[in-house]
Amino acid sequence: MAGVSYPYPYEAKVSQTLFDRASLVTPGGVNSPVRAFRAVGGTPRFMVSGTGPYLTDADGREYVDLVCSWGPMILGHAHPAVVEAIQAAVVRGTSFGTPGEGEVALAEEIVARITPVEQVRLVSSGTEATMSAIRLARGFTGRAKIVKFAGCYHGHVDALLAAAGSGLATFALPDTPGVTGAQAGDTIVLPYNDLESVRAAFAAHPGEIACVITEAAPGNMGVVTPGEGFNQGLADLCRAYGALYISDEVMTGFRTSRAGWYGVDGVEPDLMTFGKVMGGGFPAAAFGGRADVMGHLAPVGPVYQAGTLSGNPIATAAGLAQLRLLDDAAYEKVDAVSRQIQGLVTEALTKEGVAHRVQTASNMFSVFFTEDEVRNYDDAKKQEAFRFNGFFHSMLAQGVYLPPSAFESWFVSTSHDDKAIERIAAALPAAARAAAEATA
Ligand code: PLP
Repeated sequence: MAGVSYPYPYEAKVSQTLFDRASLVTPGGVNSPVRAFRAVGGTPRFMVSGTGPYLTDADGREYVDLVCSWGPMILGHAHPAVVEAIQAAVVRGTSFGTPGEGEVALAEEIVARITPVEQVRLVSSGTEATMSAIRLARGFTGRAKIVKFAGCYHGHVDALLAAAGSGLATFALPDTPGVTGAQAGDTIVLPYNDLESVRAAFAAHPGEIACVITEAAPGNMGVVTPGEGFNQGLADLCRAYGALYISDEVMTGFRTSRAGWYGVDGVEPDLMTFGKVMGGGFPAAAFGGRADVMGHLAPVGPVYQAGTLSGNPIATAAGLAQLRLLDDAAYEKVDAVSRQIQGLVTEALTKEGVAHRVQTASNMFSVFFTEDEVRNYDDAKKQEAFRFNGFFHSMLAQGVYLPPSAFESWFVSTSHDDKAIERIAAALPAAARAAAEATA
């Protein structure tokens, strides 16, 4: 990138060739925008394999992976027991379009782990899960409006790709071309961690709000921990005004504890959404919650929802195998790895005098380039994000793969062992220097 010099010059010739090919046949060369490295510049790495905490790219370079497929790979890549379950499932056939035992077992595992989930419906992506949960909330309450928070991402659902309007408790505007004013017009976008604004929205729209949806602990503006009492306050307000409280645990579910963020704060949602970890690296997701609400779904109730590949036998086998390995010891391990890496990052950045702040939601964490607490999206945007570029590319050049944006959570796994952590520790001093030297 112009104006930025990296301490370690490096090339990614095969990745660049693949990126050029991809760009001819796929918009921007990628199937999900963040993969294009637009925020940090440079050549996106095309990965060919993953084992434990490592990824290998098309140029044969190995990286310690701190993205873990954006969360799902909590046991590391190609965990033998997960691979075995997938292999056993795949030879029995890949999709039947009928019910199967695997999906029952996965649903039972979810229900057993998370008390507020009495019933669950499997879908294929987190986007589908939140979209369906919102439809169900609207169908159940007979109300149209929904509340979401700026900086919380719930997938690319039209109604949730909305940006705050001009004032609190006013209706949102489309956040992308292609979303109509009507689709965004029933969405109210409020600042995160601001219970007063939620109270004001309910007061301004009595009997109109179907649900409040929030990331259980946001990771999509970087990690922003819900303030003391915030989630409980949302649940209480929803109850008081007859709306449903939807906790989006697509990212935190089965990652931040056995029972996700619910296992951390114990706040009882009416509906919850899951994805990532529960699919073991396959497209599987879910929404679930109160049986009386879920009972409004087709075929027992009037709210339509369906999916050709929902409950796919390979995806459910992978997810179930992964969940069954995720016992308390596994979470202790992931938490310990996370704390160790957080400490190393802090040490390196402090040594170079780089203003920063590590924020956590159990083992999920982000490094913000600011000293100030980040409580919402406006705070997150105030960080010196330009410092992240140099930091990121230095780490990449030294074989550590970070999320290619300053506004993302880092993810670790049970497979991040001493050797992987040593590689991270060895890379950090130069990366911290690059961050210190970066200019806006
Ligand atoms: N909800 C949250 C909290 C997410 O982090 C994401 C994806 O990152 C989604 C929903 C959408 O999930 P998917 O990308 O599987 O559609």
